Amino acid sequence: MPLARPVVLGNWKMNGLRADGLALAGRLDARAAHASGTLGIFPPATLVAAVAQRLARSRVLVGGQDCHPAESGAFTGSISAAMLADAGARAVIVGHSERRHGLGETDAEVKAKGEAALAAGLMVVLCIGETEAEYVAGERHAVLVRQLDGSLPSGATAERLVVAYEPVWAIGTGRTPSLAEIARTHAELRGLLAGRLADGAEVALLYGGSVKPDNAADIMAIEAVDGALVGGASLDADSFWSIYAAGGGT
Ligand code: PEP
Repeated sequence: MPLARPVVLGNWKMNGLRADGLALAGRLDARAAHASGTLGIFPPATLVAAVAQRLARSRVLVGGQDCHPAESGAFTGSISAAMLADAGARAVIVGHSERRHGLGETDAEVKAKGEAALAAGLMVVLCIGETEAEYVAGERHAVLVRQLDGSLPSGATAERLVVAYEPVWAIGTGRTPSLAEIARTHAELRGLLAGRLADGAEVALLYGGSVKPDNAADIMAIEAVDGALVGGASLDADSFWSIYAAGGGT
């Protein structure tokens, strides 16, 4: 079954100690008791188990921010998809720009991570998006096609795949593409997914990059936008919930 819309996911990045993280998770849980859509939070790895335990009976799903492609082995500092699942995670983000561009992850590595996540029973949140230089050079479409072709995990279905379009230049900057640009990109991505997966038309397609309570309604009103991947604004329960509500979530 495709994910209930809107799909609003919060990437906490490297933020949160135990007390704050559990308090934030608790505030969201209280709000989400009867949530009709899909809400998820992605705490730092140190908090996945504790937050997943806190939200064990919640409508809010918990995920990891990254995983290693291997199941286990000599990979100091890394965490496998199976370990995330064992800690209570139900999803994992792969290909976030802070890893693609900050840490030099390739499309092939992102694809392998996504496939490991599917094998471990996790839902994959695949991030793609062009840099500012690529945007200015008019390469947005070509970059997205290359990233989708290179990093879409084999075997993915709409039930366990979310694709987030996150222009790198919009992440954490307060800048976003125009609504017309987001609409055009999402319509293109919808077509690209439909051409690559049997149920590609059903895959939840999120926009990410400086989504805030005051722009969320306009962005999520766009037809091919099924929700949002939220960074900074997900660290505050009221802001995160406002974004979810702006997308039609109750
Ligand atoms: C992100 O990091 O995925 C993100 C969208 O961040 P922000 O909302 O802070 O731009």
